[in-house]
Amino acid sequence: MKNSAERLDWALNRCAESQLRMTPVRGAVLDFLSEQRKPVSLDEISQAPGVKGQYDSTTVYRTLMVFKDAGLVRNVGIMRRTSHFVMSVPGEVNYFLVCERCGSVVELGLTSGMLANLEHLALENGFATEGQSMDLHGICRNCKSASARRAPASKVMARYCLV
Ligand SMILES: [Zn+2]
Repeated sequence: MKNSAERLDWALNRCAESQLRMTPVRGAVLDFLSEQRKPVSLDEISQAPGVKGQYDSTTVYRTLMVFKDAGLVRNVGIMRRTSHFVMSVPGEVNYFLVCERCGSVVELGLTSGMLANLEHLALENGFATEGQSMDLHGICRNCKSASARRAPASKVMARYCLV
């Protein structure tokens, strides 16, 4: 597991390789993300030092999309409203549970045996496992109890993001 400085270093090198110009907002967002292990929401990133009060969420979102295209960041969650972002550092395996209603994110504590099984399954399906990540999408307990009278919780959907 890399520390924040190493993660930032990797991200800056990746920017240079992708010929991404470093701007103050890009630098501030990378600074913040390098310190986060768990995915963070657009709101949280917009409150980060060097970002808050200087750039609006649209600018921050565009910055994140540029990073995503460059393979620096991946987003966890489907809709913009509930999207969370995490730095996509090689060698760091991230598995998260994502609530599709409120966007809450929980890290899955998988054992090395479970990870090995998943890796094996991915390989069997023709996916490379470098920088592997997988999110399970569903409805969290809070949202489920809030909607218990309306409809049954939807099925959990697995989404592979192998890069
Ligand atoms: Zn929820």
